[in-house]
Amino acid sequence: MKVLVIGSGGREHALAWALRRTAEDQVELLCAPGNAGIGQIARCVPIGATDVSALARFAADERVDLTIVGSEAPLARGIVDEFRRRGLTIVGPVAAAARLESSKVFAKEFMARHKIPTARFRVAESADEAVRIVRSGEFGEDAPVVIKADGLAAGKGVVVARDHREAERAIAEMMVQRKLGEAANRVVIEEALTGREASLMFWTDGRDYRLLPPARDHKRVGEGDTGPNTGGMGAITSDEVIDRTAFERAVREIIEPTLEGLRVEGIEFRGVIYLGLMLTAEGPCVLEYNVRLGDPEAQAILVRLRSDLVQICDAVARGRLSEVKVSWADGASACVVLAARGYPEKPETGAVIRGLEEATRAAEVEIFHAGTEKGRKGEWLTAGGRVLGVTAASATLEQALARCYKAIELIDWDGMHYRRDIGR
Ligand code: ATP
Repeated sequence: MKVLVIGSGGREHALAWALRRTAEDQVELLCAPGNAGIGQIARCVPIGATDVSALARFAADERVDLTIVGSEAPLARGIVDEFRRRGLTIVGPVAAAARLESSKVFAKEFMARHKIPTARFRVAESADEAVRIVRSGEFGEDAPVVIKADGLAAGKGVVVARDHREAERAIAEMMVQRKLGEAANRVVIEEALTGREASLMFWTDGRDYRLLPPARDHKRVGEGDTGPNTGGMGAITSDEVIDRTAFERAVREIIEPTLEGLRVEGIEFRGVIYLGLMLTAEGPCVLEYNVRLGDPEAQAILVRLRSDLVQICDAVARGRLSEVKVSWADGASACVVLAARGYPEKPETGAVIRGLEEATRAAEVEIFHAGTEKGRKGEWLTAGGRVLGVTAASATLEQALARCYKAIELIDWDGMHYRRDIGR
């Protein structure tokens, strides 16, 4: 069976690793475009992840049996629609369903239509309208308020403003200076919620669903959640992320109504739905939907997968999820991201990574590559902002974290930085 993974980050390396592990001799693994780490276990082909028509042509020519999409951009561009048109089997939502992530206005209105708990909100089509809404005080007199660009903005489209002045500054940046381009043609203005956050993901074929272990990520670059937002500096999975009551409410009040809502609206969804949740005093609320696995959450999650990933993905894509059981290793897991100097603003690349081979041989961790390349002498070089994801599963979170940090001591490059407080 030929399986193609689309993407080039740590998440895609973890997907490739899990696909390799569960079906060693039955799978020929391809990745577009992949990275140097993925190149060790799959054949990488130099086609960009958003070059939808080239990817579809390639998959047809190569007779790929199953394609798995890692990131949101190709999904929003309709890669699934294009593959399906050609009769190719692919995991991921069609573009109409990917709007749950690619349009925050769509997502909020979807939640309102289906009574799914989320922050109260308004939509503004212009800066004037947005400022009027903020000043109206409907989300509290000079209370915190959240401004969200409608479209995809790679994690830069959300500002939690402490007061109206900050909110108006965010509106001006998005809608007057147009720092996010078309992504902020419209904005969502919403009430600020408080509570702990949790990420809940599940595979669905539109009818059935299978939950992944609950996760939590660390978005800020600095320890104690300080500094600018990043793609994610680490993640953990653990039952402690969400307690039993909140979990059951999330299933009943969010997951099931989300699937029912998609069905009622005639939107077919075969892929992963990611719920960014705020666990408020009133119960779990949806902060955002993503339509794919989170990264680095996927790295922490997939090291706990016991079942055959090829079989799961095939079942998701073909609408046969009811036929597969998905099981996970008990306990917990962690992924600590090692980043390059200057990340997230202006990461430096080309530094020689020392100790990677030795750390990779350490039995207790998996090291997923997000941004590496091989130098002329066969040495490992940094090639991106997030470079490596050091990942471990264990019976307890403490143990998983200890394994990660122990392996990290073996790795070093000029400018390497990471958070020492992942999972704490
Ligand atoms: P991602 O990069 O995960 O896709 P995003 O840019 O789509 O993120 P959100 O996940 O919607 O943005 O929001 C980012 C963060 O902003 C959340 O993790 C949360 O900490 C905060 N946030 C979002 N909405 C609210 C809210 N209503 N109240 C308080 N904080 C919020």
